[in-house]
Amino acid sequence: MKKSIFILSLFLAIGCNAQKASKKGSPVPAAPVDIEALMAQMSIEEKVGQMTQINLDVVCEGGIYKLVEPHHIEPAKLQEAIAKWHVGSVLNCGGHAYPLKQWHELVGEIQRVATTQGRLKVPILYGIDAIHGANYMMGSTLFPQQLAQAATFNPELVKRGAQITAYETRAAGIPWNFSPVLDVGRNPNWSRFFETYGEDPLVCATMGRACIDGYQGHSTTPDATHVAACMKHFLGYSGARTGKDRTPAIISDIELRQIYMPSFQAAINEGAMSVMINSGEINGIPVHANPAILTQLLRNEMNFKGMAVTDWEDVMKLHQIHKVTANNKESVKAAVDAGIDMCMVPNDFEFARHLIELVKEGQITEARLNESVRRILVMKRDLGLFVNPMPPALKDFPDFGSTKHQQAARETAEESITLLKNEGILPLSKSSKVLVCGPAANSLTLINGAWTRTWQGTDEKYEDASRNTIYEALQILNPNTQYAAGATLDSLTGVSEILAKANSADVIVVCLSELPSTEKPGDIEDLSMPAAQRELVKQLSKTGKPIVLVLVENRPRIIHDIVPLCQAIVMAYQPGDLGSDALARILVGDVNPSGKLPFTYPAHEQSLLTYDHKFSETLDPKFGNTAYSPEWPFGFGLSYSTLTYGPMKLSGNELKGNGTLTVTIDVTNKSVMEARETVLLFTRDQVASITPSVRKLRKFHKHVIKPGETMTYMFSLNATDLSFINKDLKNVTEAGAFDIIIGDQVATIQYVP
Ligand code: BGC
Repeated sequence: MKKSIFILSLFLAIGCNAQKASKKGSPVPAAPVDIEALMAQMSIEEKVGQMTQINLDVVCEGGIYKLVEPHHIEPAKLQEAIAKWHVGSVLNCGGHAYPLKQWHELVGEIQRVATTQGRLKVPILYGIDAIHGANYMMGSTLFPQQLAQAATFNPELVKRGAQITAYETRAAGIPWNFSPVLDVGRNPNWSRFFETYGEDPLVCATMGRACIDGYQGHSTTPDATHVAACMKHFLGYSGARTGKDRTPAIISDIELRQIYMPSFQAAINEGAMSVMINSGEINGIPVHANPAILTQLLRNEMNFKGMAVTDWEDVMKLHQIHKVTANNKESVKAAVDAGIDMCMVPNDFEFARHLIELVKEGQITEARLNESVRRILVMKRDLGLFVNPMPPALKDFPDFGSTKHQQAARETAEESITLLKNEGILPLSKSSKVLVCGPAANSLTLINGAWTRTWQGTDEKYEDASRNTIYEALQILNPNTQYAAGATLDSLTGVSEILAKANSADVIVVCLSELPSTEKPGDIEDLSMPAAQRELVKQLSKTGKPIVLVLVENRPRIIHDIVPLCQAIVMAYQPGDLGSDALARILVGDVNPSGKLPFTYPAHEQSLLTYDHKFSETLDPKFGNTAYSPEWPFGFGLSYSTLTYGPMKLSGNELKGNGTLTVTIDVTNKSVMEARETVLLFTRDQVASITPSVRKLRKFHKHVIKPGETMTYMFSLNATDLSFINKDLKNVTEAGAFDIIIGDQVATIQYVP
C-alpha cells in the first residue's frame, strides 16, 4: 500500500499536501487523473466555474427557497450551470432532508450531467452540513450537538460519532461535510454556541482533531465511507462583541493566537482537507477580504494546503453589508486577492461573471486562478471523484441508521449529560410517581436542536416517531411516570392542570428549553431563561414536591433565581434523537452521569467570564475577589459515585528546559456503581510578561473506575504546557513559578529554561 502511494504521488507529482506525509496507511483511491494536464486544457471560464459553488435550489424546479415538491432537478437549469458556467460545486438541500433514494437521484443526476455533458467531464464536489449526524438524510443517526459532545471529555466518542456521520453522509453520495465548528465558544449569547466544543482552546483542539480523524478516516484521501472535513469558520467568528451572529469582533493579535487559532492549527496538523471562512469582521476588516488572515496566517504561517471555501453569500456581502467595496465586482476581486479558493455564491452566477471579467481585464492573473483550481481538483481527486462520482449502491451501506449507530449516539449522550446539582434526590426510584412537564418534556424537536432535517430544526413534521421524548423514555423505565402538557417556551398556558398533577406526584421532572435556532435567527436579547419558564418552576416549587430540573438548551440560559428551588439539576444540552433514552437511564440510575461542563455556566447577565479570565476580573466593587462567581464553573459535573481524589504527586518541583514533569493523582470510587471520571489539570503562571489567566487547562483524561477501585491518572508536562503568547506573538514559557492545579489541590513548581 505504501509503495503504491509513493508511485501514485510521483506520477501525479502535484498538489499532494504536506499534511499527507505525516499520515500513515492512508487508503488512496486509484485516481488516474493528471491534474496539471487537465488544467492545461481548461479555459478561463472553466477555471472560474471550478471556483463557483451553487445552492441546489439553483438547478431544481421552482424558485430559490421556493422549490416545487418533491424536489427534482430541472434539466435546463442544470445544463446552464454545467455547460455554460462550468460550475464545480453544489451544496445544501432544498430546505429540508431527503430519503437516501432521493439524494441518489439528485446527486446522481448532477454527477451524470457533469461527467457526460461537461466538456472536460469534471465531477462535482457536493457539500453539505452534517452537523450532529447526517442531519439532511432522513432516517440517519442524530448525535448530541457538538457542545454536548465536548461535555463527554472523551475524544474517542467524538471520533466514533464523526465516523458514523461520515458513513451516513457518504451513503447519500455526498463526500464533503461542512464540519466541525472549531470556533471557540467564548460568549454564551452567541446563537451558535451549541455548535462549538465550548470555551477552552485545548478542548476545542482535542475534540476537533478527533472529529476530523473520524470524518476523514485518518487520511487526507478518505475512502468511500469517509468524507472531507471542513474546519470552520476561520477565524474569530465566535468572538463577536455583542454575541449577535456576524457582528464585529475586536480581537487582539495575542488573543487571536492564544484562543482562536489552536483548534484550527490542530485540525490542519490532522490533515483537514478544507476550511470555511468567517462571515464576520475582525478589527474592522471582513475576514473574506483580509489577506493577512487568509494568506499570510492560514497559508504561510499555519501551513494549510487544502481548499478554502467562503461562507454563504459572503463575497457579495463585502459590498452589500460590510461596505468595504464599492460594488460586487470589487468584492470578487478583494476576496480572490485575499485568498479564497471557492465561492459559496450560492444563488446565482454573479461571482463567475465578475471573476471572468477581472481575469480578462488583467486585474486577476490566470496564475492566481490556477492556485485555487489546483486545490479544488486535488480535493476532488483525493475524494475519489474522478474514479467514481456516482452515489453508491444502498446495499453497500447496511449500517445507515442502524441500531448499532443509534446505540453509539445514545452512549455519546450518556457521557455528555451533566449533573449540576443533586441533593440526594437522584437517581429516582423506578417505582416513584414521577410527573414530567415543561416545554421539552415531550418534544423531539427541542432535544435535537438546529441542523435537524431543516436548517433551524424547528419543523415538527420531520420528527421520527420511533424515537422517544423525555417523557416516553422515562415511562418505559418507570411505568408510574405521568406527563402534563401545557406551559410552552414563553407562556404558562395550562399551568393549573400541571400543578394539579404535580400535587399527586412524588417528584417533578421539569424540562425547560429554548427554541432551536442557529445563525441570525438565533440572536437573543436576553440570556435569561424566559420568564414564563422560570415562573413555572416557582409555581411548581410551591407544591412542596422535590423538583428535578432538566435543561435542554442551545446555550446556558441564566436560571439563578430558580436554582435554589430545585433539588436536582441536569444539563442535557441538545442530546439528539437518542438523548431522551440516555437522560432517562441517568435519571433512574441505570447510567452514572459523567459529563462535565465545557463552558462556564453564568449566574448573571453582566458576568459572562470564562474560567481563564484575568486576575483583575475577580475584583468586586468592595475590592474583594468575588467578581467571578458563576452558577457552575467550567469542568463542573457530579457523579452518583463518591469519587475521592488522593494527594497530587509531582515527580519534582522543578521543570528544566526540555525536560518533563510527571503529575499523578489517584481517584477512588467509593460507591457500588461504575463511574467515569475526567480529571482536569490546570496551570497558573504566577508572574508573566502578559497578564496571566487565573488558570489554563493543560491536560485532561477520562477513565472508567470500577466500584471500590482506585485509578491512577498520570499527566506528563513539558515547557510547552506552561506557555503563552507574548507581546512579540511568540509562544513562550517564561522562567519562574507555576502552580499546578487539580481540583482544590495546588502545588508550585519552578520552570528553569
Ligand atoms: C453557515 C455555515 C454553513 C453554510 C452552508 C452558512 O450560513 O454559516 O456554517 O456551513 O451556511 O450551509
